[in-house]
Amino acid sequence: MKLIIFGPPGSGKGTQASILAKKNKIPHLSTGDILRSKLEEGDDLGQELSKIMSVGNLVPDSIINPIVADKLLSNDCKNGFILDGYPRNKNQSEFLIDFLKKNNLDIDLIIDFIADTTTVKKRIMERSRIENRSDDNLEVIKTRLDKYFAETQPLAVMFKEKFKDKFFEINATQEITKIQYDIENKLKNA
Ligand code: AMP
Repeated sequence: MKLIIFGPPGSGKGTQASILAKKNKIPHLSTGDILRSKLEEGDDLGQELSKIMSVGNLVPDSIINPIVADKLLSNDCKNGFILDGYPRNKNQSEFLIDFLKKNNLDIDLIIDFIADTTTVKKRIMERSRIENRSDDNLEVIKTRLDKYFAETQPLAVMFKEKFKDKFFEINATQEITKIQYDIENKLKNA
């Protein structure tokens, strides 16, 4: 099963992706998590990432594209993957579509988590208290949301046109269990 998940920060896509990944025994490839773990290594790359991520900006494509390509070709992904947080801009989306085609990888489903700004801001602030993430404060959240709506959401529109019935929008303001139920139903027919 190969899935791509779109949705603004705080839309709950990470939570759902990790539930789905466990159930289906496939990796949850969250580019945010991958980059955070690289940042914690504290080397030159880690310091560069820290500067970018702490203010909510996007990490350069030249860093993230090869990381994603390596992961997708790794043995862990031979039975599928859930891509969460990637692609984030036009260059990444072109890179990914080209990469999937070259490697004969067919996406089964794309899920777009739809949530309003007020709901996601509230959720991120709650997560900030629990996880103590340095990029979960109001100013940085605003930058991250602005980036999402300016650069990433238009891609979802493009993917919707390209992938048609493989593209599925979900109301991400619903209860976690209801979202899970809707996704499972959709997967059964994918
Ligand atoms: P996330 O956990 O997905 O909200 O990502 C946290 C941060 O990691 C983002 O604000 C970006 O700085 C960085 N990041 C995650 N995914 C990407 C990506 N696909 N492209 C560029 N930067 C990313």
